[in-house]
Amino acid sequence: MNNTHAITVRIDAPADPLVSRTFVILKDRIQQRCTAKVLEALAGARIILTVDKNLPHDAFRIDQVHAAVRITGGSPQGLLYGVGKFLRTSRYDGTFQPSPWRGTSAPHGSLRGMYFATHFHNWYHQASEPEISRYMEDLALWGVNAIKISFPMINLHDWSDPQTDSALAMIRQYAKTARELELQFATGLNNTMFIDAPKNIRATPLPDPTHRRGNSGHPICPSNPEGHAYLMANARQFFEKLSDVGLDIVCFWPYDEGGCACEKCAPWGSNGFLKLSRDMTQLGRSYFPNLKTILSTWMFDTPPEGEWQGLTEALEKDGTWANYILADSHEDFPRYPLDVGVPGKLPLLNFPEISMWGNWPWGGLGAHPLPARFQRLWDQVKRVVDGGFPYSEGIYEDMNKAIVVQFYWSREQSARTTLEEYIAYEFGPGVSDDVLAIIDILEAAAGRAFRKESPDVDEAQRAYRLAESVDARLPAWAKQNWRWEILRLRAALDRERFCGGGLETPAAEAAMTRLMEIYHCQMETDDPYHHRVRPPLRRAVTRCKEL
Ligand SMILES: [Zn+2]
Repeated sequence: MNNTHAITVRIDAPADPLVSRTFVILKDRIQQRCTAKVLEALAGARIILTVDKNLPHDAFRIDQVHAAVRITGGSPQGLLYGVGKFLRTSRYDGTFQPSPWRGTSAPHGSLRGMYFATHFHNWYHQASEPEISRYMEDLALWGVNAIKISFPMINLHDWSDPQTDSALAMIRQYAKTARELELQFATGLNNTMFIDAPKNIRATPLPDPTHRRGNSGHPICPSNPEGHAYLMANARQFFEKLSDVGLDIVCFWPYDEGGCACEKCAPWGSNGFLKLSRDMTQLGRSYFPNLKTILSTWMFDTPPEGEWQGLTEALEKDGTWANYILADSHEDFPRYPLDVGVPGKLPLLNFPEISMWGNWPWGGLGAHPLPARFQRLWDQVKRVVDGGFPYSEGIYEDMNKAIVVQFYWSREQSARTTLEEYIAYEFGPGVSDDVLAIIDILEAAAGRAFRKESPDVDEAQRAYRLAESVDARLPAWAKQNWRWEILRLRAALDRERFCGGGLETPAAEAAMTRLMEIYHCQMETDDPYHHRVRPPLRRAVTRCKEL
């Protein structure tokens, strides 16, 4: 840029709310990182934003037109993803240096989702609307195109429960925020509904010899006509309450809280579950004609009941109503879709757990990057998976989100390459090797915690020293970035707990107090589950016990 103080941008696309929003995002993220002012201009622009319908819908191209860098999307969404790539590959050390990256990029995976678990007074539950909106923008810049939120019927007595309105307000707010960014909005349904569901329509408890399917909640038998009517009436009310904000995707979940083992429903996954999901899909499409459906296969065939095979046969007969199959497990990926193929030959989604592994309380000690773990899991499925919905409990695993979403975008892009881009964009130049070394140490520490091995004291010291050294070199904007703060605090807390005086030292308490602020945790809470997502600060209080 010749003029480092003014960066002119020409918007060369028909008026469109997402194109205008993309310009505002570009301007905001550049101005956050350097003193340049970003202005819209008709002539002499140094950055051009445009849309070319000849490109695939979500694709982008970045090229040079005389002295300007042109970012072209196949759609306004494609433009937003292109601006993400441009921002991450530009440099901001004092002056703005526009990205040297040139080329065209189109996503491999069609559904690049994120599941926000909005509960336990975690960040998703507590953050303000502007914070959530900004976070969704940041994820969209990485390529996310859908978010999923659950409506917690399982915790509510009925529609008139005093908590129902606030739960509905939250899901509606997420839907609205997502759709303003043209992210698809997804939610879930199953056969478990309100606590006060009549006793006479309850499901037959599932056989669960491996203790993995779950029998919590109050599942209803959909083969009982009265039970079916109850489920459909509540699904209808739920769709009605979302009808003005919109719904793009509904995901049907077979186990954990659902299921029925009666003669008419069994085997649940390929029988009762399928019929109910199909009926709810038809109902949903009367409200949202373009509604897409995801059939989850969570805990299918544990124990083996022929559910995978049964699903294949059922979708061969009538599969037109289903759009995606979702599969994953607590450990390695289920074999059936890899060995036999995906039922209905539908696109396959995964559901990686990016929040909880090797980490307790979840995020309570800061950032939780696990690049090697997700690379290993991805390598098992990258040839067959078309996207997914990583399960997220908070912002402390932001790096894991970027890694997984970039896998969906480009199946061969390594976790390490994504992290290098992340570090340069979020923390600035010249610290990549040190930050990668810190991440490797933190991930190794999480693995040792998971395997209940003793910590590596020398490595914890080394991560702490590296973090202090990086911190001293960061520009002010990066030092203030919560993404750096949570990484630095994690290194500090690992040092305190592994080679210092434990988590009750003044240094540890100060670090956890800062994490509490970043996560909007409650120092005193009536939520019996809040301790799962709150730093383990000695003076933090939970007034009632987990059930
Ligand atoms: Zn039943």
